[in-house]
Amino acid sequence: MRLDVVTLAPEALAPLLNLGVIGRAFAAGIAALHTHNPRDFATDKYRKVDDEPYGGGAGMVLKPEPVFAALEAIPMLPKRRTLLMSPQGTLLQQSDLRRWSSDYEQLVLLCGHYEGFDERIRSQADEEVSIGDFVLTGGELPAAVVINGVVRLLPGTVGTASCLDDESHSTGLLEHPHYTRPAEFRGMAVPEVLRSGDHGAIERWRAQQQQQRTLERRPDLYARWQAQQQEQQ
Ligand code: SAH
Repeated sequence: MRLDVVTLAPEALAPLLNLGVIGRAFAAGIAALHTHNPRDFATDKYRKVDDEPYGGGAGMVLKPEPVFAALEAIPMLPKRRTLLMSPQGTLLQQSDLRRWSSDYEQLVLLCGHYEGFDERIRSQADEEVSIGDFVLTGGELPAAVVINGVVRLLPGTVGTASCLDDESHSTGLLEHPHYTRPAEFRGMAVPEVLRSGDHGAIERWRAQQQQQRTLERRPDLYARWQAQQQEQQ
């Protein structure tokens, strides 16, 4: 998959290339990361990328011309999706990461800065993505979040595909607890059933834990999961 990030701070994306399994996926050519700095496309002698908002008010706004020029210089693959990072976007879900990783061969990620974008830049995006109800100073960390989540799902990045099927947010429930050796640590014991060797009992315990955890921690997810279960019956 080809990833193109339009950003005034390309150095903020560089850590992805050294990030464990994600870094190895880039090294193995499973994904390729390209950054494009609107400043390189500014035509005036100060390389100006931002300006004061019409109508007044605090902060500076990202100008449209250098961002459009940066976008237009990106090679275009047939199956491409342009995502604009914004706290006003749709809240990012695991299902979005799945959809982007399976349906597209190129993702273009647009990072805002300052007070945000000139509104006309929005016309270039297929989707607006928020990583949560809070505001950061730029779109680079949100873009890195999307890239991490998408590259993780590409075939070959994570050892076994089954790891990806069981985890939280894939099944509609949170994952069950995990334990490793030692069987007892500082008075905290591993549940007996996990050491029983009874695979049926282990399965049932895990399924029950998943439901209990989700009910306790995320009643909203639990309600949605229950409704889905009823539909399927
Ligand atoms: N004034 C704007 C926020 C600008 S924050 C507003 O109220 O909508 C500057 C940039 O950081 C944004 O353009 C966006 O690219 C990025 N950003 C900040 N918080 C974000 C979030 N929760 N999700 C995705 N991108 C975010």
